[in-house]
Amino acid sequence: MDSAKSNDMRVYTGIAASPGIVVGRLRVIDRRRLGVEEYDIGQTGVSAEIDRLRSAIASTRDELELLKEHLQASIGEEHLFFIDTHLLILGDTRLFSETAANIETGLINAEGALRRTLHRYREFFAGISDPYLRERISDVETVIEKILRNMAGEAPAPISQEGGQTIIAAHDISPADILQMDRSSIIGMVTEIGGRTSHTSILARAFELPAVVGVDGIADLLLDGSPVVLDGLSGRVVVNPDSDAFLDCLRRKQQYEYVERELLKTASLPAETPDGQRILLKGNVEVPEEGMSIVRHGGEGIGLYRTEMLFMNRPEMPGEEEQYQAYSAMQRAVAPHPLTIRTLDAGGDKLLDGIIRVSEQNPALGMRAIRLALSMPDEFKKQLRAILRVSAAGPVRIMFPMISGLEELRRARALLTEAMTELEAAGIAFDRNISVGIMIEVPSAVVMADLLAREADFFSVGTNDLIQYSLAMDRSNEHLADMFQPLHPAVLRSLRRVVEAAHGGGIDACICGEMAGDPLFLPILLGLGFDELSMSASSIPRVKQVLRRCTRERALEITRACFGFATATEVEQFLKDAATGQIGGEPGLT
Ligand code: PEP
Ligand code: MG
Repeated sequence: MDSAKSNDMRVYTGIAASPGIVVGRLRVIDRRRLGVEEYDIGQTGVSAEIDRLRSAIASTRDELELLKEHLQASIGEEHLFFIDTHLLILGDTRLFSETAANIETGLINAEGALRRTLHRYREFFAGISDPYLRERISDVETVIEKILRNMAGEAPAPISQEGGQTIIAAHDISPADILQMDRSSIIGMVTEIGGRTSHTSILARAFELPAVVGVDGIADLLLDGSPVVLDGLSGRVVVNPDSDAFLDCLRRKQQYEYVERELLKTASLPAETPDGQRILLKGNVEVPEEGMSIVRHGGEGIGLYRTEMLFMNRPEMPGEEEQYQAYSAMQRAVAPHPLTIRTLDAGGDKLLDGIIRVSEQNPALGMRAIRLALSMPDEFKKQLRAILRVSAAGPVRIMFPMISGLEELRRARALLTEAMTELEAAGIAFDRNISVGIMIEVPSAVVMADLLAREADFFSVGTNDLIQYSLAMDRSNEHLADMFQPLHPAVLRSLRRVVEAAHGGGIDACICGEMAGDPLFLPILLGLGFDELSMSASSIPRVKQVLRRCTRERALEITRACFGFATATEVEQFLKDAATGQIGGEPGLT
């Protein structure tokens, strides 16, 4: 695409990652560092440069305080450590005094002086032996960059503070970035890389932030400031829309929002088929405010609480008490419904840069999830104790991520027993019979499902990772989006095996991967016999609507037919035809 600035309409197509249609201005986030020029100012310029430095530091402090205030209201105290760290660095008097001295002695401009200060900080940090402290130089760099941007009179911190109705465009946006965003002004986002099941997309859905990912060329700086329509339903991004395109988008937006409102009215109806088959529909959550939203959307509890978000954007692990408070808040939000808390699932595309930096060639196959937790037993037990304490207040289940075999499960259970003993010794209440489940997301766990079912209290299939590892397709790779197929016969056969093994062992089979939230797949998941489906809040009413129209008998019939096909494309076509009533049954399944 021609990159010259023009007002011509441009239509980009990517992957629909989070539903909703929004109209706003594109703000291209340029993550490149600012270039800094150093020049002589002579004796006469010294005091003006020191004033510039002082006022840029003050503006940066105001900016951070403001951001903190916004975020306190939207994401809660526990995610604000990164701002406190930056405020501490900014408040260090040496930062100012050393830079002012550089201006005075070198007779150079404030930017150049600041760069010299940064250089000295770098030397100092490089000499620190503790790797964690050594890496804190990145926080110093961030703060100095903010000061430089303020000196240059540029819009402050990317992503966090934008004008209203902003649609962010960037090459990549990490889950940590989303947690930091000022979501009162950012109404959508579009990235050049990513997939529907990457964690950035999952978080966008959690925050009901319409998003399109995998859009080649959208982070072109020349598009910055352009009017844009982002359609998170179809995956289209229209820059400089002409009036026809604009009206068309508005019409679709109204239609979508009307249907959503209508669906919400039926959200509290029972989740059962016309012939009386009940199935539990629950919600997936990442941050505290989502608990209430799940209930509002008709969810009967939380099937997956991704606790790792609590560990992001901070310099140290959250303590047991802080975790207890966070999990307790979530428990209260969904009570009396049950809460399933998944233990730390960091690594892969959910990096805890502030806390753990493992340098790996291949993070998706590396030190992640339960492997990481087992490698730091004391931290893991802190989390287990915090979860156990919450179980005294209401129904809570524990779930271990990415279990690949019995040894991992046994080691995790042994640490859980230790955590229980410690609480008992301290006289702290908890539910001794707490249900302990595992996520089935690795092919070896599918193969071993019958044995695992003897030692787990429930299974929950993480289809995002199970598809990734079964088909060897990176879930975050935009080039593989079409081949990342939930309906691949290998995936369907794995799901069948998991349900059979679970039921054979007398335990429940659940799904908490994104597959559970797609209404098209409901008949086959119902037909396979899953007991519980857990999904993002906004998917619950849609899936429930299909469930309330699909008899168990019809679901079994559809499932049997699906297993007769040899390719995902055939299965998908069949499900679409069944949904529109072209193959037997009533139309309107989706
Ligand atoms: C999954 O892999 O399907 C899952 C639910 O876990 P996550 O998306 O957090 O990896
Ligand atoms: Mg997973």
